[in-house]
Amino acid sequence: MPAVVVIGSQWGDEGKGKITDFLAERADMVIRYQGGNNAGHTVVVGDKEFKLHLIPSGILYPGTTCVIGNGVVVNPEVVIKELDYLEKEGINTDNLRISHRAHLIMPYHIRMDELEEERKGPNKIGTTRKGIGPAYMDKVSRVGIRMIDLLDEDEFAVLLKRNLQEKNKVFEQIYGVKGFEFKEVFEQYRNYAAKIKKYITDTSVNIHEFLSQQKNVLFEGAQGTLLDNDHGTYPYVTSSHPIAGAACLGAGVGPTEIGKVIGIMKAYTTRVGEGPFPTELLGAEGDLIRTQGNEFGTTTGRPRRCGWLDLVVLRYAARVNGLDYLAITKLDVLDQLEKIQVCTAYEYQGKILQEFPASLKVLAQCKPIYEEFQGWMTDTTDISEYSDLPQQARTYIETVSEMINVKPALIAVGPKRSQTIITEQIF
Ligand code: GDP
Repeated sequence: MPAVVVIGSQWGDEGKGKITDFLAERADMVIRYQGGNNAGHTVVVGDKEFKLHLIPSGILYPGTTCVIGNGVVVNPEVVIKELDYLEKEGINTDNLRISHRAHLIMPYHIRMDELEEERKGPNKIGTTRKGIGPAYMDKVSRVGIRMIDLLDEDEFAVLLKRNLQEKNKVFEQIYGVKGFEFKEVFEQYRNYAAKIKKYITDTSVNIHEFLSQQKNVLFEGAQGTLLDNDHGTYPYVTSSHPIAGAACLGAGVGPTEIGKVIGIMKAYTTRVGEGPFPTELLGAEGDLIRTQGNEFGTTTGRPRRCGWLDLVVLRYAARVNGLDYLAITKLDVLDQLEKIQVCTAYEYQGKILQEFPASLKVLAQCKPIYEEFQGWMTDTTDISEYSDLPQQARTYIETVSEMINVKPALIAVGPKRSQTIITEQIF
């Protein structure tokens, strides 16, 4: 079945941009199914680097249809900025489709996100403050405004008025800040509507058309498994569902349509924001990985916390996503390390834990149990065949894959499209 879901199997930033871009070459359609412009993808094409936050990176291929699914919350200003940016770079954007059921991020969502993070102080979630969480809150509270409403001025005015009445009370009476003027927001969104209405459509129908014609369809998850609202390190999670199952929900297809699930696994671990991280490296090794891997947020520029690969996390990701294959990224970042550690289980109060704990209190006290691997101390960035990888690198990959019980399909040894070793054909 030619429907493939690609997800991040750690805390996000696994290099999904690069892998999705690589697979997108053979995909007829690429779909984002959750999150918003809190995701950041960096794709390198030739000598050019493209940074996208919302529009699927498949847009860089002229023949690929790109869908922003119903499960995404959309800031129209960001869509317009990305469209302008892509058009300036000579990329045709006619193949973009936005679900008419996708919810809108409104200015009051962004303000609320900022105010809430400030209010929480040391207990902040570490959100990107782009209004994603508050937009999902409104969706679940059944007061959200959708793309379909943006196309109907009268309906949009009614919904906006109703929302502002409630929201402004909260801004003024609880936070002591000024609320939003109806006229200003209405005009702003009317202008947005004029610019993006041609892209808004029933994307579930489009996706079904492609699937029924046996075309290659790629579902691209944002963030990562451990940031999933249900399955992640709650409450330090995102407000949507990055796991594979959410592809169906956020795109409007049934689970029987999905053919393969690929988990992207960075050769080590990183994490942005707050919350426990058992294999975190706070010293020189962490700094080396951060510098070598350029581990700074695409959206926020924040330095990422870095640590060794954690197989407790990966076995968990393999289970909750139903992984068929791994796409291993940034193997080259480990090129200079003499010894590499891999966490195979946790020790908690003298007991061995094999399963990822739900309690953050427990997770914070877990000590990683490491297995040591020999580094390969060889530059891998020019290698394109699996058999040309140093023996130690192959041992690392094969042992890790066996321990997770998921085979590798792709191995990335650099940011470029060409720096990808294929071990299994996906499309
Ligand atoms: P994403 O949101 O999951 O795509 O993650 P990031 O935005 O953090 O992307 C990862 C960064 O690493 C980008 O700058 C990529 O160009 C780069 N990258 C992706 N794969 C590799 C790789 O295999 N090796 C190296 N050195 N860099 C990579």
